[in-house]
Amino acid sequence: MQIAEPRIDENTTIKEIDIPKKILEYLKQKNGIKRKFDDKKYSVTELIRCVRETYYKKTKVASEESFDKSVQSMWGSLRGNYLHELTNAYTWNELETEYNVQLDDNRTATLVGRLDMYDETTKTLLDLKTTNNVLWQVKHKMLPKPEHILQVQCYYTMFKDIIPIEHLNLIYADMSEIVVFNLRVKDRSKWIANRINILETDLENGIIPNAEPGNNCRFCKFKSACDSQNKKSDGDRT
Ligand code: SF4
Repeated sequence: MQIAEPRIDENTTIKEIDIPKKILEYLKQKNGIKRKFDDKKYSVTELIRCVRETYYKKTKVASEESFDKSVQSMWGSLRGNYLHELTNAYTWNELETEYNVQLDDNRTATLVGRLDMYDETTKTLLDLKTTNNVLWQVKHKMLPKPEHILQVQCYYTMFKDIIPIEHLNLIYADMSEIVVFNLRVKDRSKWIANRINILETDLENGIIPNAEPGNNCRFCKFKSACDSQNKKSDGDRT
């Protein structure tokens, strides 16, 4: 019996196209090239951190070298990457989306977020944080951190119209323990819009926003600029 040759439809147009943007971004990311957000684009992390810190970053104030070269710090950073392998427990992981926010002046800003994991069988969104001494921190009520809860609820807000979500889980892991918190499902669209509007207005008018000091100040790359601004504000008041 003669086997028929596969037929090629002469009318089919096959053309070479550009390499998809996501692949180029992935290659850059894997080669240590950090993604830069333009002025109207925010990451979820930029929103949940101190508003003044994000202002300094957006206005390109010179940042201080805060890289801690201690063995402990470098190992901590690498250990975090290893622990992040846990996201491979789910087929749906590292999901990225962009969420448009209408500003008060009718312009549009974009919020970019990457979701660690999604369980499609239970409709659960999961975010992973790696840290030290998880059990000790839980016992002393240092976990879950409010900004992490906010972050997960922001992801819910961004993804809820794309995938069905009924549960939000926040996972903390160290080298020996994993603790999971089930969070309240809460829409944060108003908070997101408000936060971006504050930042956009301050950026537009060159007003340095109020500081929001907290534990993250010790890692802040703009600490000197922030301290000078505080002194200036104190001087203006006296
Ligand atoms: S030092 Fe603290 S309060 Fe000041 S900009 Fe940095 S994070 Fe904000």
